[in-house]
Amino acid sequence: MHCPFCSAVDTKVSDSRLVGDGTQVRRRRQCVICNERFTTFEIVELLLPRVIKSDNIREPFSEEKLRHGFLKALEKRPVKSDDIEIAINQIKSQIRATGEREVPSKRIGNLVMDSLKQLDKVAYIRFASVYRSFEDIREFGEEIAKIQD
Ligand SMILES: [Zn+2]
Repeated sequence: MHCPFCSAVDTKVSDSRLVGDGTQVRRRRQCVICNERFTTFEIVELLLPRVIKSDNIREPFSEEKLRHGFLKALEKRPVKSDDIEIAINQIKSQIRATGEREVPSKRIGNLVMDSLKQLDKVAYIRFASVYRSFEDIREFGEEIAKIQD
């Protein structure tokens, strides 16, 4: 972190403490060149990449939309809410782990499908049939045959 007063590269930390429920770190720093003191706050980067939709429009990642997709596919299915939350968090970590600033919505859809495949086969078929908008009955039959293996 450059010194904001003289732009020196070297600063030393004189105090470091957690603030804001431990989600931030406040650091007192002192420049080793001009001796000015300043404070920095560090927060964890939790931003998710933007989503590129099929029409090329970009929109912010929405956890609500993701959850809605899961809940809709899992309607009246014997899957615990905790398991859904775990699945949502896993998808978020996978998307973050790409390190990309934009991800195609298709990639997110594929992650949801993989996840539903583990959680509940019926929900998987429901989601896949809408999401992939199966071209014809045969393709749909092939998907069902695949999961029956
Ligand atoms: Zn300085």
